Amino acid sequence: MRSKKHHIDIDGIPIEVTRKRVKHLRIVVYRSSGFVRISSPKRVSDREIYRFAESKIDWVKKHLQKKSSSDSLPAPKFTDGETHYLWGEPYRLRVKEENAAPQVCLNGSGEINMFIRPKTAVEKREKVMREWYRAKMKQEIPALIEKWEPVMGVTVKEWGVKKMKTRWGTCNVRAGRIWLSLHLAKRDPEFLEYIVVHEMTHLLERLHSRRFYGLMDQFLPGWRETDKKLGGKHWKK
Ligand SMILES: [Zn+2]
Repeated sequence: MRSKKHHIDIDGIPIEVTRKRVKHLRIVVYRSSGFVRISSPKRVSDREIYRFAESKIDWVKKHLQKKSSSDSLPAPKFTDGETHYLWGEPYRLRVKEENAAPQVCLNGSGEINMFIRPKTAVEKREKVMREWYRAKMKQEIPALIEKWEPVMGVTVKEWGVKKMKTRWGTCNVRAGRIWLSLHLAKRDPEFLEYIVVHEMTHLLERLHSRRFYGLMDQFLPGWRETDKKLGGKHWKK
């Protein structure tokens, strides 16, 4: 009898096939390791498994690419010539060393000027940049909240900007407080507005319930598209 585990190869991608007590064929891509696995019911033939794998291979490739493209992005060092984003637009970074308080600003010719003291470490450069993004966010958020409060009939008591790793925003319903991810400053402004509306909708409906999505449809009919572009799925839980 054949072992329960074997490998097939589609377009040069090795796929581990495991036969177990499952009802349907299922394929999983482990993005962090690039490992691909198919779980198959015991009765399904090798030929059917192969055909299933073939039918999914474009999807598999897309997922594997996502991994490599995000992995291959080197961590920024905040050195001269690097590209950094503000509100979805790329800017070349110009680093100028001088003995004065650090400062970041747009220089009017599509560049970001970063003034730092000579020999400033990368962590400190990152922090200087982060504070600049925070200031940019703080310029935009009040107008958005003011715009949406009367439309939605809610009041935001407090808001803030935070460095978040896995989320675009959070809402503390009881405190009437929303937090927004600092990374939104790098993306198109439509995303900031979308997340502000999302978090403010929680003031009306705490859970991601049908009612929640109904309210979102009412406030921002195009939000599903925006969410997709943002790579969201967080909201679909
Ligand atoms: Zn939410």
